[in-house]
Amino acid sequence: MISTEGKRILSQFGKNGFFCFFYNIERIMGLPGNMCCGDCGEKLNKDIGWASLNLGIVLCIKCAGIHRAMGTHISKIRSFRLDTNAWTDEVVRTFEKVGGNEKVNARVWEALLPSYWINPKWDKCERIREHFIRMKYQKKMFLPPDPAKINPCVCKMPFQVLQGYVDWKSTDSKKWTTQQWAVLHSRFFF
Ligand SMILES: [Zn+2]
Repeated sequence: MISTEGKRILSQFGKNGFFCFFYNIERIMGLPGNMCCGDCGEKLNKDIGWASLNLGIVLCIKCAGIHRAMGTHISKIRSFRLDTNAWTDEVVRTFEKVGGNEKVNARVWEALLPSYWINPKWDKCERIREHFIRMKYQKKMFLPPDPAKINPCVCKMPFQVLQGYVDWKSTDSKKWTTQQWAVLHSRFFF
């Protein structure tokens, strides 16, 4: 959806030159969920929005800062207002394919996010924000299950089993290890 202001400017200047980028930002922000940060839910507009080009998610400045700190191999961050050259038609088409924050979170990045997981949509404390974002994109904790990784015993069970992975840090060795967990009839197993 293009706003009335966007349509007015388009009718005056067409899709070329400087206003091409403005039009493209309108297209990205019009996708479901893109008026709010995809990580913390903060309200956005075209002047303060940021986005990750490779993750297909629109963000606020604080979450974008954490994305940037993770490195460009994980998230390629651009500003709507400052990086005017970044918003090409091709980039916009990619965002349209992804379908907006709502869809990409529900289908990919937060597909398995447990309802009890503390995240910056509830608490914007900086530590929670950073931990959540790193778990979400660096560790890929909430992605939909990879069929190749599902334990064959779980597949044979006659009822639905929730399973996932948890990271432990040993206080002695200071090393992280990953362990699989499963919930069967409200009981928690390792
Ligand atoms: Zn945010």
